[in-house]
Amino acid sequence: MTATILDGTAIAEHIRAQIAAEVQRFKAQYGYAPGLGAVLAGDNPASQMYVRMKRRACDQAGIVSIAHVVSEDTSQEEVERLVQSLNDDPSIHGILVQLPLPPHMDEERVLRLVSLEKDVDGFHPINIGLLAMKGREPSFTPATPTGCMALLHEAGTNIEGANAVVIGRSNIVGLPVALMLMKANATVTVCHSRTRDLAAIVRQADIVIAAIGRPEYVKGDWLKPGAVVIDVGTNRVEDPSAEKGFRWVGDVEFESAQEIAGAITKVPGGVGPMTITMLLQNTMKAAWRIAGQSEKVV
Ligand code: NAP
Repeated sequence: MTATILDGTAIAEHIRAQIAAEVQRFKAQYGYAPGLGAVLAGDNPASQMYVRMKRRACDQAGIVSIAHVVSEDTSQEEVERLVQSLNDDPSIHGILVQLPLPPHMDEERVLRLVSLEKDVDGFHPINIGLLAMKGREPSFTPATPTGCMALLHEAGTNIEGANAVVIGRSNIVGLPVALMLMKANATVTVCHSRTRDLAAIVRQADIVIAAIGRPEYVKGDWLKPGAVVIDVGTNRVEDPSAEKGFRWVGDVEFESAQEIAGAITKVPGGVGPMTITMLLQNTMKAAWRIAGQSEKVV
């Protein structure tokens, strides 16, 4: 069997075109565009790159973006003041605090300050709590897990009743994606660094979400034939034969996995492009809601 490739780039492009059209409808109605405000503290090159990519995607969709960039040694109070200024700014509908914050900062205090109606990253503890509770809905769900769910839907995956194995339990990927799968009525197993016999657990899975940050760790012969595999991992590995001397690989060994899986994402070109797209979608939702048109939120 050779797996169907879930093309995150193509799916994301399609959704972004829909968002761009929606932005135009919003502007025609209100005379202004939705706005996204970012706070970036410190000089982590990956964080700088993510904020640049998010701003570029906003530009392309017609969403206004502003970024407050402050140095690594900025005080907690200053970062909190910036978040508060975005909360108070009526031209801003979505706020993102780029994580990780510098080590001296209290991340939870900063995230708690983001207004719930502008929490487009879905990381406010109340939104995560609502995601965990039966019969409750958060205002927003985090971008990467939402992108994983969108890819599963695109693949036509029958989530209800499926055995889903999530490898990784981080606050930004593993935990929220496990909660989202449980809300969608999957039977969810969450694995982590202390899990015993990971391969045997993965072998039971109809759906595998790999989010561990270890290059090509999950092997094809761990998979149940026909499983749907979403590879969140983004790992840089040295490769002298590549033009730049390195390449990106996922947490799943693609070559062996594609022989066994029913559907699989690639790295790059799978979850990555979906993540920013989901952030744009959440910003659009926030703008409709703040404008009093919740019924426009699909
Ligand atoms: P993280 O915070 O480092 O969490 C890694 C998780 O994997 C932890 O729960 C850890 O277990 C678990 N783990 C580590 N080694 C393991 C092992 N050998 N077996 C089983 N579990 C293991 O990472 P993250 O932020 O969730 O990111 C995970 C990966 O996704 C990274 O490659 C990251 O670059 C990528 N990512 C991609 C996107 C995207 O948009 N494409 C977005 C976010 C992250 P413990 O809890 O026990 O430590």
